[in-house]
Amino acid sequence: MIAPRSIASDPVAITALAEAIARGERECTAAEARELLDLVPGTPAAEAFFAGAQKIRDAFVGKVLKVCSVVNVKAGNCSENCSYCSQAAGAEVVDYAKTKWIGDQNIAKAAETAAQNGAKALGLVAAWKGVKEGPMLDMVCDAIEEFSQNGKVRPDVNLGILESQHCADRIKQAGAKVYGHNLETAASHFDNICTTHSWEERMKTIQYIKKSGMGLCSGGIVGMGETKEQRVEFMEQIRFIEPDMVPINFLNPIPGTKLGDIGKLDADEALITMAVFRYMLPDRNLMTAGGKEVVLGDRVGEVFKTGINAVMVGNYLTTLGTDPQFWRDAARQHGLVMAAEVTEIEDQAGSGCGSKAGCGCDD
Ligand code: SF4
Repeated sequence: MIAPRSIASDPVAITALAEAIARGERECTAAEARELLDLVPGTPAAEAFFAGAQKIRDAFVGKVLKVCSVVNVKAGNCSENCSYCSQAAGAEVVDYAKTKWIGDQNIAKAAETAAQNGAKALGLVAAWKGVKEGPMLDMVCDAIEEFSQNGKVRPDVNLGILESQHCADRIKQAGAKVYGHNLETAASHFDNICTTHSWEERMKTIQYIKKSGMGLCSGGIVGMGETKEQRVEFMEQIRFIEPDMVPINFLNPIPGTKLGDIGKLDADEALITMAVFRYMLPDRNLMTAGGKEVVLGDRVGEVFKTGINAVMVGNYLTTLGTDPQFWRDAARQHGLVMAAEVTEIEDQAGSGCGSKAGCGCDD
């Protein structure tokens, strides 16, 4: 019996699939996603695939590029052992600044810089397991209240695993608009990456966030030794939780971390993976986040052909990012406009961020 031809070698079938998704007629199946991950770069099928990813993006979330930024409010000496992270327990990485909670003035300064860089939102990120009820919850809520009155950027947080629904509700009440909490990788791969907490704990926190009414930002890291099947499994799990924003990171294998010796992802594989996310999650905001500079090098501007509609700018948590001006220019070259430049369009649309997926904000 002759095996059916893979969609990955058939530009006509790929275009038909993209158009059907763009019209909202059907979803991309896990089997199709798996085949698309095997596309051969530079072929007519690959060209049709990337054109389709942009068509799907334009149909669902448009050409407005959202810009976010993060600041480490507590860096280093984490209790957790995430294999990819320089701040993890056991990681032998020394060339970044460890800090205790940085305080209101420094958060205000970070908000100022993020706004200057064109970011609409700033996430406060802490290197610890998560937030417990009691003095810790009081401290973070005080800081969020102060930050949310600053008004320069949307106050978001990324504070790890939440002990209870009460924690999520208090953080929302304090003024946080979006809570960032990645699933990181497929459930079937998580135990290879971290053993100090479980994928299920992460999922529980996501349920608390959603129930609190905060926006959810949740994605993960590609290139941590997962198989292509697990990459598709991860995409399906992200599709299930319906985050408002999906940050897609690529592993930056930092020497001294447990994954420091793993080879970095091939640039073409990274671009194809990102575009498959668009086929699988047509109406979500997809953000290119950490690791893109390391994996894509001088091809980093090509991220726009994958159908992403958001970018993380500025410095990451322990590594440097690309100059925000680069993103402004690259977005323009690819027919996208940065969110900060389109207030007028948003006002006309009368729908806040103008995205069907929503950005998690209610302003
Ligand atoms: S990813 Fe977060 S929780 Fe994991 S080790 Fe790094 S700082 Fe800690």
